[in-house]
Amino acid sequence: MALEFGVSSRKFSFLDPFNGFQRKDLAIEVRRDPLSGDVARILEFRARDLGPIDHSLFLEREAGRPCPFCPEYLEKVTARFLPEQVPQGRLSRNEAVLFPNAFPYETMNSVMVLTREHYLQPKEFTEEIIDNGFMLAREAFAKLAQGMRFASVNWNYMMPAGGGIIHPHFQLAAGKTPTTYQAAVRRQALAFKRKHPQEDLAAAYLDHERKEKSRWLGRLGPAGWTATFAPRAIYDIMALVPGGKGLLDLKPAQVAKMAQGVAAVMRFFQDKGVSAFNMAMHTPLGPERAMPLMLRLVSRIEIPPLGVDEINYFEKLHDEMLTFIRPESLAAELRPYWP
Ligand SMILES: [Zn+2]
Repeated sequence: MALEFGVSSRKFSFLDPFNGFQRKDLAIEVRRDPLSGDVARILEFRARDLGPIDHSLFLEREAGRPCPFCPEYLEKVTARFLPEQVPQGRLSRNEAVLFPNAFPYETMNSVMVLTREHYLQPKEFTEEIIDNGFMLAREAFAKLAQGMRFASVNWNYMMPAGGGIIHPHFQLAAGKTPTTYQAAVRRQALAFKRKHPQEDLAAAYLDHERKEKSRWLGRLGPAGWTATFAPRAIYDIMALVPGGKGLLDLKPAQVAKMAQGVAAVMRFFQDKGVSAFNMAMHTPLGPERAMPLMLRLVSRIEIPPLGVDEINYFEKLHDEMLTFIRPESLAAELRPYWP
């Protein structure tokens, strides 16, 4: 069954001050994503080069303040689990350490410090670091999220993306009810299943994208990767796992493949000057697997020369995204980085 990747366009004409007030005709493309119902508007502008990554402002601001996630402080100042939950207080795996979020927003809510290193640039997040984090997240959900159904592994990289601490860390959340976005994806999947009981929305989506080619990046282990059709950011990359699998169902080698994709995007972000980004890996935990395992990485660019935030009233208050890089162009630029 073919999915509808909805595209409509709006026409716009004006006398162009940059071209002797000649008539200019533009088309604005409006896209609706069949996986999430997300709506995005694609404008055609020439994007400026972002320049090299520079975090000196944030590193200067925190100079002299002790970092709670650095090895010498972590033991003393981060929260510990109740003895009946985790007798040793915290979970760890290689360099990664996981503990309760002292500022919780969900029933199961943990912080995971990824490395002993205090500051890493995007390209320094190797496959091994990301894989180790995902494997510890798996262990944490298995141990600490019993009875929960909807989980996520989240990442705010640097302050413009909402990161409160420079030291690399993920945030894990799991609850009995989905977040609004998880509920939207689940609703789309259930509606698809009602019409096509033998099929799976994630599989149909990936099948479409693989055949369509223009946004397709490739398959890595269990996941298909694409530049998202209706993006939530200027750079929006998605991995989707079909077949009702959750993070806890993946074999370690499959988890490593997910990490391989993330590390490839990190190398791309580094070269493109994407100095802040968000990640969410959504995973079902309970027996109901309507919401697919999905990973999303989105840029949080400050557009030069004034450092304008890529998020504005349109995303914040209208729930739609404006972007000026076509996902098809993003895919073409990202392909050389693909493993
Ligand atoms: Zn630190």
